[in-house]
Amino acid sequence: MDPLRRILSVAIALIITVLPAASAEAADPEITAESPYMQVAIEEALEGIANGDGGPFGSAIVKDGVIVGQGHNRVLKDNDPTCHGEVAAIRDACAKLGTYDLTGCVIYTTGEPCPMCLFACKWANLETVYYGCTIDDNAIIGFRDEEFDALAGGRDQLADYLICVDRDACLQLFQRYSEMAHELY
Ligand SMILES: [Zn+2]
Repeated sequence: MDPLRRILSVAIALIITVLPAASAEAADPEITAESPYMQVAIEEALEGIANGDGGPFGSAIVKDGVIVGQGHNRVLKDNDPTCHGEVAAIRDACAKLGTYDLTGCVIYTTGEPCPMCLFACKWANLETVYYGCTIDDNAIIGFRDEEFDALAGGRDQLADYLICVDRDACLQLFQRYSEMAHELY
């Protein structure tokens, strides 16, 4: 085998060995949600915290069983205190569908929405919010939703609108975030 060909074959072998490991890391098989939609929300959040974009909050919007929008918290990256995961996903879905009205869609989000996102979901006409970690879980990792919740008068009357799913998987996500060095806002 001539030297050039040998180098080429070594390079190809390297790519074949390294690539699956790299993509497995990106997909993060260690955190597995039961809902495939929550899985996408978790993967959004993992991408966000790996990049230092913001907190561990990712969201996916689903219409007729198909994900039509997704996003994660980019408060730090964009210096935008309103760019929470739910808002990012609503913007993405609306842009892709070419509408401001997400009637017929539901949202999956790694943390119970803050008051701003809760009302953004209402403004967007999202039909149900499926969240992983609760408002109390958000507080454990340092987020101050409760402070704003008190201003909005509590959320007891929204019990049918806010449904908890995959809390264990989302708690693993929060755990991972709390172990990382990160900026809190
Ligand atoms: Zn929010």
